[in-house]
Amino acid sequence: MSNQNEASGVLVIYTGGTIGSIPKNTKEPNSPLIPLSKEDVSNKKENRLFDLIQSYEKGNIVLGGQSIRLELISLEKPIDSSNVSPTVWLEITKIIEDNYLDYEGFVILNGTDTMTYTASVLSFMIENLNKPIIITGSQKPIGETRSDAVQNLVSAIEIAAAKSLNKPIVREVSLFFRNKLLRGSRTIKYSASNYEAFQSPNLQELGTADEYVVINENIIRAGSSQSLRILKGYSPKSHVF
Ligand code: ASP
Repeated sequence: MSNQNEASGVLVIYTGGTIGSIPKNTKEPNSPLIPLSKEDVSNKKENRLFDLIQSYEKGNIVLGGQSIRLELISLEKPIDSSNVSPTVWLEITKIIEDNYLDYEGFVILNGTDTMTYTASVLSFMIENLNKPIIITGSQKPIGETRSDAVQNLVSAIEIAAAKSLNKPIVREVSLFFRNKLLRGSRTIKYSASNYEAFQSPNLQELGTADEYVVINENIIRAGSSQSLRILKGYSPKSHVF
């Protein structure tokens, strides 16, 4: 694929966090959670993240009556997001850069603790973006019965697949949680347990996903006709925090 406008399908980038975590000790009710490994989520036959989505089958998800190609790629070592560092941000942007022409949109699965930092940093690192990059996660792991994960993940995928679904395309880094799509660089986490965990106090939401996905077309960015550019320079001092 060489023309970015022809690309279809969504690439999900798994970085770790609660959404893809399992209890360290399954017999202990309050066991700490650990993120699934790259090997766990890269298993093509049994995808432990996607197999829980009802309309997902063999690399495709059905949305709005259309079959959308869905693929998953993992960081080499998925993390609890409290361990994020510039190295992780560089790894995420490298995945986006390498796959930019092959997908119409990207969804990043991230822990909630530093989701706002990652959303902000990526929105400044990635220039001339012309496709949706949506960061999401969940308060409960995807494998738990009353988890918020599937709804967050599938809504984010639907917004990322806007081109195929003939919907307004959100050509920027955004954060989706519960039912709101927020500008990545304008978010705060305000609750460690509420399913509506993020807010954008100084900017209206970019969209909502309740029964219908509604995008606020007056606010979303116009996109760029120039080539994607990733700013990779970090001061060595910024590696310690
Ligand atoms: N500690 C987790 C993380 O940020 C919390 C979460 O994902 O909700 O990775």
